[in-house]
Amino acid sequence: MTDFKQLIRTIPDYPKPGIMFRDITTLLGNGPGFRAAVAAMASPFASAGIEAVAGIEARGFILGGAVADRLGCGFVPLRKKGKLPWKTIGEEYALEYGVDIIEMHLDAIHPGQKILIVDDLIATGGTADAAVRLIERSGGKVAGATFIVDLPDLAGMTKLQARGIPCHALVAFAGH
Ligand code: AMP
Repeated sequence: MTDFKQLIRTIPDYPKPGIMFRDITTLLGNGPGFRAAVAAMASPFASAGIEAVAGIEARGFILGGAVADRLGCGFVPLRKKGKLPWKTIGEEYALEYGVDIIEMHLDAIHPGQKILIVDDLIATGGTADAAVRLIERSGGKVAGATFIVDLPDLAGMTKLQARGIPCHALVAFAGH
């Protein structure tokens, strides 16, 4: 069994005082650890009939591409505003100060397609919730969401689960 927690570096007070930044680059840099993480993120959804993975920029791209390869399905990038070249739809989500927007190509997801959301970490769930809204606006069905890290004190995963979305995380850390 891989000890994922041990492979994740914690940086106190980054990017600002009071935040414990969970840095997964140390896990990504470890070959067996990265492979085991991708396998563990994908395995609960291996029989869920996933038709595409939607990865959230930027760390969700690294993990999501690998998870999509593992599940044998396509990959849809959910990008920060202004990065995608074709027609897009966007959804806002709250940051601590102000709002940000993630965008998706208008034709990236087809009605009824079963989609798995992938990101490195879920905290308040605001980013993942914007991803759910984007996918559902296209007629896609969110069949699950998978993360390396859950911060349960911020209850993002509980909110997604309350919407009927099966969620999975490899490790949980207390606090922010
Ligand atoms: P949220 O929308 O609050 O669920 O925040 C999730 C997004 O913010 C993810 O894309 C994470 O990469 C990033 N994030 C939030 N909190 C942390 C943290 N403590 N350490 C590392 N990344 C974080």
